[in-house]
Amino acid sequence: RQHMARGLPKQKPISGVKQVVVVASGKGGVGKSTTAVNLALGLMANNPSKSVGLLDADIHGPSIPKLMNLKGNPDLTESNRMVPLTNYGIPCMSMGFLVDEEAPIVWRGLMVMSALEKLLRQVDWGTLDYLVVDMPPGTGDVQLSISQNIPVAGNSLTHSITHSLAHSVIHSFTQHGAVIVSTPQDIALLDARRGAEMFRKVNVPVLGLVQNMSVFQCPNCQHQTHIFGSDGARKLADTLGVHFLGDIPLHLNIREMSDRGQPVVISSPDSPEAEAYRKLAAAV
Ligand code: ADP
Repeated sequence: RQHMARGLPKQKPISGVKQVVVVASGKGGVGKSTTAVNLALGLMANNPSKSVGLLDADIHGPSIPKLMNLKGNPDLTESNRMVPLTNYGIPCMSMGFLVDEEAPIVWRGLMVMSALEKLLRQVDWGTLDYLVVDMPPGTGDVQLSISQNIPVAGNSLTHSITHSLAHSVIHSFTQHGAVIVSTPQDIALLDARRGAEMFRKVNVPVLGLVQNMSVFQCPNCQHQTHIFGSDGARKLADTLGVHFLGDIPLHLNIREMSDRGQPVVISSPDSPEAEAYRKLAAAV
């Protein structure tokens, strides 16, 4: 395999987890975590008999605890594995459950790797049909080229960490694929493209591109505005030869409900925005 040729570590699958969907973005702030949470809930809504878990691999800025309205420290099993915290039927694990909410997470590279290793290896998921992973932002080719030039295993240089994080997350699973979230804006698309290229280089199938914040509909006059552009992500998906997985509108309800820890798929299941996430889950 290509990643072995680069001297990168090959990781074992996570026990009990059948399928992993990593949600990534080249850039921060484009709605990756919001998408990951609603995608997980959408997968559950579409397949009530299946089990879905959510792993927050964003070690530096964990947002799953707030988005899923979860707080507290995980219990430990007899074999010292962490029991995920569950809300809305979704077991979740996040660095946010292990550190003080107010404390800044400023860690050196090796500590980051060992923290991630814990989140990947020491969680008792039981059996899961899907594990949705909220990736750290920034899966660009800068990190890739750094890791190509410097062996990742045992490397403590902070700037190589983002890529090696992405790498160890991705290669920890048997069946996996990446969903890339972008806004239609050129600058976000550029980073999304880099993200897609990075996944290809490490042999991770790109399941497709989601266009977030595509259209804003005025709640008063219903006029629609394409604040960040209209169909950039769709065009990029065409150019890259990957699937276009759909549009998520820029909607006040999505933002407000996210801030309250009540994602729209759960809190407003009949809304068009919830429908958009369920469609996305069906396309993945
Ligand atoms: P990222 O994980 O990419 O950093 P977040 O998911 O944290 O991004 O989203 C960034 C901000 O944008 C949050 O305040 C979130 O509530 C808001 N947001 C994300 N997607 C939408 C959307 N479709 N409509 C409205 N607000 C959104």
